[in-house]
Amino acid sequence: MTTTSGDGLLATSGAPSAAAPAAATAAATAWPAYVKASVAWHLAAGAAAAIVPSSWPWALGAVAANHVVLTAGGLWPRSRWLGSNWTRLPADAAARGEIAITIDDGPDPELTPAILDLLDEHRAHATFFCIAERARARPALCRAIVARGHGVENHSDRHTHRFSLLGPRAMAREIAAAQASLADITGVAPRFFRAPAGLRNPFLAPVLQRLDLQLVSWTRRGFDTVGNDPTPVLARLLRRLGAGDILLLHDGHGARDGAGRALALAVLPALLERVWAADLSPVTLLAAESGATGSAGTQA
Ligand SMILES: [Zn+2]
Repeated sequence: MTTTSGDGLLATSGAPSAAAPAAATAAATAWPAYVKASVAWHLAAGAAAAIVPSSWPWALGAVAANHVVLTAGGLWPRSRWLGSNWTRLPADAAARGEIAITIDDGPDPELTPAILDLLDEHRAHATFFCIAERARARPALCRAIVARGHGVENHSDRHTHRFSLLGPRAMAREIAAAQASLADITGVAPRFFRAPAGLRNPFLAPVLQRLDLQLVSWTRRGFDTVGNDPTPVLARLLRRLGAGDILLLHDGHGARDGAGRALALAVLPALLERVWAADLSPVTLLAAESGATGSAGTQA
């Protein structure tokens, strides 16, 4: 895993700076600082080994240590080492008392409509990170999400579990294909991206920058895709509930309770009651970013 991304990183990042200065300038703005530092680290280690051949074990160790850090940054969904990553809403949105409920892996023909009804009942808006392959199978449902005041955002084209192992071209294809499909279906280009399972590698940030997508992870997740008891799911989401929180549930791949009810459906009513009782407003990520609304019901 480490070797795949690391080798690719060195190969693709090193090439433009030598061969095409103009392209290198554009690429330089796209790579996160830590990734740029890693490339320099690789070059320094390579130079040291070339100049002082006996230092090669040190150089190899330095590169290996760097790969461990890069890989850890990609496997830790809330890390910012590999580029900008929202784990909370912007400060302005938090000051307005806003929180974001995000719902991943749909749309689902059974669960999504039920969640939309619950959100309406509780005057809440949410953000749906849709898998484009599923959106293409249910375009009307996708449009209904937007028509009812919620956001449809990019959660990749096929939600491959190998996402964090993809090279730069495959990763760009996966995200751009989803972006095109979702924009075509809803008429609105997504503004946010969430990686499948939150796992990434250093190739992601430049792709997101090119497509003007902001990476979003979460403040807390309910872990509603495992187990059969909604109680701990709700407890996880409510722990230190506060303005600016980004919460994660699922309308696809979700687990069910003993009665066959999806855990997300089981926890949403109590969650939304607690949100309103705490004087918080559940808004879409887009509204939180733009400041377009201070309360549900006037969603941009
Ligand atoms: Zn997912």
